[in-house]
Amino acid sequence: MTIPSSDYDVIVVGGRCAGAATAMLLARAGVKTLVLERQAYGSDALSTHALMRPAVMQLARWGLLDAILASGAPVVTSTTFHYEDETVPVAIRPEPGMPGLVAPRRTVLDRLLVDAARGSGADVVHDTPVVDLLRGHRDRVCGVVARSGNETRNLRAGQVIGADGIGSMVARTVQARLLHEGSVSASVIFGYAPVPAADGYHWHFGAGLSAGSIPTNGGEACIFVAARQAYYDSVLRFDRANCHNDVLRRLAPELADHVDARGIGPLKAYRGRPGFIRQAAGPGWMLVGDAGFFRDPITSHGISDALRDAELASQAVLGESRREMDAYQEARDAFAYPVLHATDAICRFDWTPDELKEHHRRLSQLIKAEVAELSRRAAMAAGTPTRPVRADSIAAA
Ligand SMILES: Cc1cc2nc3c(=O)[nH]c(=O)nc-3n(C[C@H](O)[C@H](O)[C@H](O)COP(=O)(O)OP(=O)(O)OC[C@H]3O[C@@H](n4cnc5c(N)ncnc54)[C@H](O)[C@@H]3O)c2cc1C
Repeated sequence: MTIPSSDYDVIVVGGRCAGAATAMLLARAGVKTLVLERQAYGSDALSTHALMRPAVMQLARWGLLDAILASGAPVVTSTTFHYEDETVPVAIRPEPGMPGLVAPRRTVLDRLLVDAARGSGADVVHDTPVVDLLRGHRDRVCGVVARSGNETRNLRAGQVIGADGIGSMVARTVQARLLHEGSVSASVIFGYAPVPAADGYHWHFGAGLSAGSIPTNGGEACIFVAARQAYYDSVLRFDRANCHNDVLRRLAPELADHVDARGIGPLKAYRGRPGFIRQAAGPGWMLVGDAGFFRDPITSHGISDALRDAELASQAVLGESRREMDAYQEARDAFAYPVLHATDAICRFDWTPDELKEHHRRLSQLIKAEVAELSRRAAMAAGTPTRPVRADSIAAA
């Protein structure tokens, strides 16, 4: 892959949910944007795929949802919570242009976002890691050092955006301040089986454990089990297949029967790490997606966060001023802190079923607040002034 030689307004490091979406939005606004991604075009990423309403809404607004549905990812019209002896089904309200939720494979979603970024005029180069940042006057970040094969090239840009995930090289190099660090994390083991008869997302909870089924592309469902990291370290990791089956049987016997009858593909595992919130921007740099804010996957909120922050970040870049960068951090954190706290409460696995229902109620209110704020921003962009929605005020109601 040849590294381009020209200068850019913005270089984005990392080309998945956060990076490709940011680049697409910037390119649509006429900003000369380059994305550098170290992995291959269309490659997979660890994920259980469930998109929550804010993510689906963003994809619909950006004109990408139809292509995701055309990929064969089924429309999800219900989500069902199973608390030991109680089952709580929740119907997903359809909206114009958004028939329900959806859980695309990352080979579908990330590729589509990259195609959309390219289609909007951004340059996207894969198989090309960024290995360092360039500094200019007063140490301001003014570009990147990219490597492809034996070739290394300095590329200049007015702004460098780190969308390079949890282990962000950009965050490390600029020494982004750690604003908050969570104390808990869960581990997850998952694989793909033919989609079960029961429709929609299913989340099962029991003492110290959870499991679920998420229909995705190819007529398959992602079937996962999750537990405290300590339990994974001491038990689950030694025999993934039997432990996956055992947890399923304890929490969701019908799902376990289905997996026994139809089989499940190779199992993947994610050991987990505590969530964090990092400083979002500094001179010449910004962080978007997991690079700046990571929460445990147990609440399936990471892609919603990445797409929301892609939009906030691109608006800040277009605004150009220092004030806009501060506003980006403020807008991101208005959702990041409550989402992280709600996620950690669930991830602690120390709840009774009633306490867990309360955690889910709070999360659901946060998601409603997020949807309201995204709608407000869309209305503002269309020229209709509206009042801001604060996640914490709605969630406290
Ligand atoms: C097991 C698991 C299950 C999950 N399930 C869900 C779910 O069901 N729903 C949900 O919404 N979220 C889920 N998430 C969270 C979601 O995957 C992340 O929040 C989301 O991927 C964040 O997107 P991102 O673009 O910020 O980061 P990433 O997807 O991590 O992408 C970062 C990219 O940056 C690239 N990169 C890194 N360093 C460099 C470099 N130096 N140069 C060039 N490129 C670089 C990487 O190759 C990578 O492609 C899950 C996460 C995990 C781990």
